[in-house]
Amino acid sequence: MLIKAPSRTDLHQVYAAPGCPVCTLLTRSERRYIDATLYEHVTDVKWREEVRAARGFCALHTQHVLDVGRSALGVSLVAADIIATLRDLLPNTSDGGALGRLRSALGANSSGAQLRPQRPCPICSYLGELAAVYIAALLDDLASDAGAQAYAVSSGLCLPHLNQAISRGGPGLRVVTEHQAQAWERLEAELNEFIRKSDYQYSGEAIDAERDAWRRALLLLSGK
Ligand SMILES: [Zn+2]
Ligand SMILES: [Zn+2]
Repeated sequence: MLIKAPSRTDLHQVYAAPGCPVCTLLTRSERRYIDATLYEHVTDVKWREEVRAARGFCALHTQHVLDVGRSALGVSLVAADIIATLRDLLPNTSDGGALGRLRSALGANSSGAQLRPQRPCPICSYLGELAAVYIAALLDDLASDAGAQAYAVSSGLCLPHLNQAISRGGPGLRVVTEHQAQAWERLEAELNEFIRKSDYQYSGEAIDAERDAWRRALLLLSGK
């Protein structure tokens, strides 16, 4: 899959979307990846090799593939391929049988180690590479006045992407950290307001925008 940096317009759009802008871009890219690999290019030999070596996807990305749910044929082809590979690699634990003895003699996987994934989940790998490209693009953009202005409405970065941005560094990082401090301060105030209004003494006060602050806070800590 192609690794392409987002345009300034793409970046400024995701700053205005709720949640971490890098996670928003990655969520879109993940959806495109699932469609492209499992729907449009499922016969791609190299990709099929990668997914076979990974023994499928990690639990999180399996759930996302199932959520997208329009790739039944693609998933069937990939899953049949992996299961056929695994059947050949299943350790032979029976004593007898000519085939078993032959396979043992050939040194075929008595430990079962080959059943384990031989490489990471392809979606994790792809999104990991993309995240680095997106963070670099974000930091470049935030080094400009137009970028810094557009970023003013952002919810801030999730903790994993903030840490990656700090590791990368560069002139845009000042905007990231200053804005992050404000975003966390606002979020903390909303959480405290929700906690206060949840007290029976204040049960007459309506809970407003802080209603889902706990969800936003968790997502901003974990990333999507
Ligand atoms: Zn993020
Ligand atoms: Zn994964």
